[in-house]
Amino acid sequence: MMAQTDLIWQYQDAEAELDKLRKELEQTPERQKMKKLRRVLTEQSERIDSFKTGVKEREAELDSSLKKLEALLKDYDLEQDDLGIMMEDEESTAEELTESRKAMEELLEKVNALKKSLTDCENWIKRAEESIKETYQKGVKTKRDYEAAKAVVETEKQERKPVIDRAQREVERLESFVSPEILKRYKLIKKKFPNPVALIENNRCSGCGMSVSMSVVKKYQTDDSVIECENCGRLLCKRSV
Ligand SMILES: [Zn+2]
Repeated sequence: MMAQTDLIWQYQDAEAELDKLRKELEQTPERQKMKKLRRVLTEQSERIDSFKTGVKEREAELDSSLKKLEALLKDYDLEQDDLGIMMEDEESTAEELTESRKAMEELLEKVNALKKSLTDCENWIKRAEESIKETYQKGVKTKRDYEAAKAVVETEKQERKPVIDRAQREVERLESFVSPEILKRYKLIKKKFPNPVALIENNRCSGCGMSVSMSVVKKYQTDDSVIECENCGRLLCKRSV
């Protein structure tokens, strides 16, 4: 039966190997490519959404502007009728006529300003619709590339599965030999550090680099028990294999 100290080291090595294999799988160029394409897809769809929202807002603006224009044109017609009547009325003063003409001019200015904003609005919508179409076409291509990358990633995953499964089984096999009490401590420390097990080298913990007390060093040298670093809490274990 192997000493607990050696077992825990082997267990840590096996876990590190499994982590490494999983990380390698996570970081293949094809997976990076797939992730990037997924980001691009999201950006494209957000772009389309934002244009669609803009179009909706401007369509509402167009609607209300058209109503305003209608009202202004009606006012203009009324003012024109009034002016016609005043011009035929001999009692109308020159001031009254000037005022009426001025009112008409003002209305006309408002009409022109509104027409310009309507045109701007319509042009914006036209451009946005072109952008939506263009982005959508790009999106179709991105989606295709994404699906292709995803298929490769799936193949990679299948190819590496046996090796990763084997590493996983090795972790489980070793875990079954480690005493439950030590395993519990190991897993607790693992939440803080990737390497919960450390050596004492030159009276220092190899995990945190801090010096350890002589009593700990002594226990470490003579005993096969698992000691904790007083500073970082890592398990201090001798290693003979
Ligand atoms: Zn330490």
